[in-house]
Amino acid sequence: LERTLSIIKPDAVERNLIGKILSRFEEAGFQVVATKMLHLTQPQAEGFYAEHQGKAFFAELVEYMISAPVVVSVLEKQNAIQDYRTLIGATNPEMQEEGTIRRDFAESKTRNSVHGSDSLESAAREIAYFFVESEIC
Ligand code: ATP
Repeated sequence: LERTLSIIKPDAVERNLIGKILSRFEEAGFQVVATKMLHLTQPQAEGFYAEHQGKAFFAELVEYMISAPVVVSVLEKQNAIQDYRTLIGATNPEMQEEGTIRRDFAESKTRNSVHGSDSLESAAREIAYFFVESEIC
């Protein structure tokens, strides 16, 4: 089984969508093996998105990510990383397919409701960024 790191982002938490979005994960066959709510600090958000440092949207992204709490979860499933990215849909609103979480909930390219790891390496890094192994069931 594979693990991926999911974040329910501030726009979704603010609109009381935590339960609906967690249900979508479970209905799609993901097992929630760890989850917690936290309000990211600026250094935490900058460190999480370090690969985007220097890009035009970086400041806007960090400001948004610290604007309200988030829900970080570890999800387990066969082929979890790719299947989760298919479930959430594209970053670009024009490319979001019907039935995806972002198509249903995203407000904009930045305020796009959910995050998912994009590779085995980033999943390992991102899971370790928020959880110690003893917190994962
Ligand atoms: P995530 O990593 O959150 O799953 P992603 O892989 O779809 O998203 P990335 O390219 O890794 O997208 O960008 C990280 C986040 O930065 C996006 O989810 C979005 O919130 C924001 N973002 C990305 N590109 C843009 C852009 N061109 N303009 C504004 N915000 C952007």
